[in-house]
Amino acid sequence: MTTSSTPAEARAGAILTIDLDAVAANYRLLSERVAPAECAAVLKADAYGLGMVQVAPALSAAGARTFFVAHLEEGITLRALLPEATIGILNGLMPGCAADYAQHRLAPVLNHAGAIAEWAAFCRQQQKRLPAFVHIDTGMNRLGLGPAEVAALIADPSPLGDLELLGYLSHLATADEVDSPLPGVQRDRFRSALDRLPPARASLANSSGIFRGAQFHFDLARPGCALYGINPTPETGNPMARTVRLDARVLQVRHIDSTGTVGYGATHPVSPGTRIATIAVGYADGYLRSLSGAGSVWFGEQEAPVIGRVSMDLITVDITRLPEGAVHPGTLAEVIGPHRTPDQVASEAGTIGYEILTSLGRRYARRHVGGPQ
Ligand SMILES: *Cc1c(COP(=O)(O)O)cnc(C)c1O
Repeated sequence: MTTSSTPAEARAGAILTIDLDAVAANYRLLSERVAPAECAAVLKADAYGLGMVQVAPALSAAGARTFFVAHLEEGITLRALLPEATIGILNGLMPGCAADYAQHRLAPVLNHAGAIAEWAAFCRQQQKRLPAFVHIDTGMNRLGLGPAEVAALIADPSPLGDLELLGYLSHLATADEVDSPLPGVQRDRFRSALDRLPPARASLANSSGIFRGAQFHFDLARPGCALYGINPTPETGNPMARTVRLDARVLQVRHIDSTGTVGYGATHPVSPGTRIATIAVGYADGYLRSLSGAGSVWFGEQEAPVIGRVSMDLITVDITRLPEGAVHPGTLAEVIGPHRTPDQVASEAGTIGYEILTSLGRRYARRHVGGPQ
């Protein structure tokens, strides 16, 4: 790459700003909410797209001591950032890789009887009790010990004696649905398993679970999305601070002087007098193609709807209603920010805020602001 005196932010099509102080404030809010239980932090998928390298130290400085990621490789990266933390690997023990977990002091979440047996055997061989969590499935039917495996472990818990049991965990399927009876059913199933297993700490609540009340907190909560500003209580206002802002640059302004269409597929008719701004963000950047004809961006207080299809690198927005000259090449449009939260973009795209954040592109100029000094 050649050197240039122009700052990255001037050269980039879009600028992603991540507020680490807002992430830390969200952690403190959740932590106070679950006290006296401990509040862990879930950092999988590069801290939900915000950047684990920057987010992990910010959360650690805010007081987090226990972290969860999905993959072994994510755990190895996180261990280099946080030498003292407890790190759980939600996707579990990859067969044949026990030594890698031990080397990096990572605690696999043991999701099935075979994984418990493999970790216990590895511990015996090493003559060391190595840390692990045990996942009890109470209704997801995804990962975790099913009812028959739980019954077998209750009948013979001896493999647990070979390892350092950091705790049992379970995961809620409908924590964010205020009228769903399933969280209560799952909590009761979890309690009844805990009553009959060797004693250890317990962890049930994700972000939304935290807001269902103290009976869901147990000893350790595991929020992810709420740390990053996604609303954990979709039926009411969002108690979390906004963490992300995305501004994308206008490349060109078109004054339409004859009847035609805009973009691929010629899906959107335009008539003379229409003004269009073409902006440097597309589906390759995580601006989902389902936002075609559905999303909008903001210039200050003025909304400009996306017209036509989202392309790989570009969108087109209708600026006819904005004052002439208000938008020109180089103007920044708010794509995510105070006027459009990730949850709102998600609802326009027919998805959830989690997918908007974890899709955030690799081509943005990324700015992390705030955080530990
Ligand atoms: C992703 C995940 C979480 C965090 O969930 P949020 O809804 O993002 O708070 C907690 N526990 C498990 C097992 C997960 O997979």
